[in-house]
Amino acid sequence: MTDIKCVGCGSILQTENKNEEGYIPASGLHKEEPICQRCYRLRHYNEVQELNVDSGDFLTMLNSLYETDSLIVKVIDVFDFEGSIIPSFNRIVGDKKVLAVVNKIDLFPKSTNTSRLVERAKKMLKDAGITANDTVAISALKGRNLDSLMKKISEMANGKDVYIVGTTNVGKSTLINKLLEDNTGLKNVITTSNIPGTTLGMIDIPLGDTQTLYDTPGIVVDSQISHYVNVNDLKYVSPAKEIKAKTFQLSSEQTLFIGNLARVDYTSGESNSFSVYCNHHLNVHRTKTVNASEFYDKHYNGLLAPPELEEAYLSTNFDVHEFSLDNASDILISGLTFVSVSKPAEVTVTVPKGVNVSVRSTIF
Ligand code: GDP
Repeated sequence: MTDIKCVGCGSILQTENKNEEGYIPASGLHKEEPICQRCYRLRHYNEVQELNVDSGDFLTMLNSLYETDSLIVKVIDVFDFEGSIIPSFNRIVGDKKVLAVVNKIDLFPKSTNTSRLVERAKKMLKDAGITANDTVAISALKGRNLDSLMKKISEMANGKDVYIVGTTNVGKSTLINKLLEDNTGLKNVITTSNIPGTTLGMIDIPLGDTQTLYDTPGIVVDSQISHYVNVNDLKYVSPAKEIKAKTFQLSSEQTLFIGNLARVDYTSGESNSFSVYCNHHLNVHRTKTVNASEFYDKHYNGLLAPPELEEAYLSTNFDVHEFSLDNASDILISGLTFVSVSKPAEVTVTVPKGVNVSVRSTIF
C-alpha cells in the first residue's frame, strides 16, 4: 500500500500510526479517492491535527527537483515577501527558468497599482539573489489574472513539466485548485487552509499527455510568525480579505501593540501618523511607552488577544529592532503587518524571536 497517495495533500497513505502524516483508517483505504484523516478533518470540521513533519523531509523532496528539466513557478505572498523566500532556492532550481507569481493581490485595495507590486516583488527577489525570467501578479482566491498566468506558464514551459514551489501559506494549493477547476471543472481537489504545511507530499496533475504540473510541499521558514501561533488561531493573523489601514496619530513615547505579537515604540520625532495594515481580527492598541511592558504582561491574552499565546513572547522570547526612518516608510513584520509611517521617525520594534522585520519606502 506504500504508493497510494492522499488526494488532498499528497502524503503517502498509511494505516499504522495516527500521529504521522498520511494516516487513514484501514476502512477508508479502498475508497475511490482516498483521503487521509488529517485532510478529512480539515475539510469537514475545519479541525487541525498536529503532525510530526520534518522540514528536512520537505527539502529532500524539493532537492529532487534539481534533476528535472522543468519550469519553476515560484509563488510569493504579496503580504509576506520576506516569508516567501525559500533560503536554498538557487541551489534547488539550478539554471531552470523561473516564473515568479505574486499572489494575494486582492489583499490590497483594487485601486493599488499592481505593476508597482510587481516591481517591489522583483526588487525583493533580486535582493535575495533570485533571478526570475518573468513575473505576474494574481489572486488565486479571487481568480484574478489566471488567464495571463496560464499563458505565461505554457509559453515558458514549452511542453516541459511545471513545478509550483513556495514557502507554506503563500497559496500554492489554492492556485492549483483554481487552475484545475478552470481547466477540468473539478472543485477543491487539494486541501487548502491557512495552516502551514497542509500540502505534505508532491501532488502531480497531468496537464496533457506528456506534461505534468506538480504541487510541492511548502517549505516552513523560521522567520514566519506562524511558528508562534496555535494552528487554530492563524485565521486571526494571516489576512484573508482586503486589508484596511487602522491609522493612529502618535506623539513620541507612545507605543502601538499589534495584537499580542508585535510592539512598535515611537521613540522620537514630531507628531506622526502610523497606519497599520493587518488582519482585521487583531486589536491594535495604543499606550504610553512607559507603561507598555506592564500593560502587555497584564493583557497579552486578554485585551490584546486573539490569538491566544502560550507565553508572553514579547516579554520572554523576543528580538528588538531599532530603525531610524529618514522618509515616509513601511515597517514590515513578516506575515503579520506592515506599518506605514508618514514622516521621519525613530522607531523600536519588538517581535517574537526570529520573526523578520524590515523597512521599505512606503507602498501607497
Ligand atoms: P499553500 O500552503 O501555499 O498551499 O497555501 P494555501 O493554498 O493552503 O493557502 C494558504 C492560505 O492563504 C489559505 O487561507 C488561503 O485561503 C489563503 N489564500 C490563498 N490564495 C489567496 C489569495 O489569492 N488571496 C487571499 N486573500 N488569500 C489567499
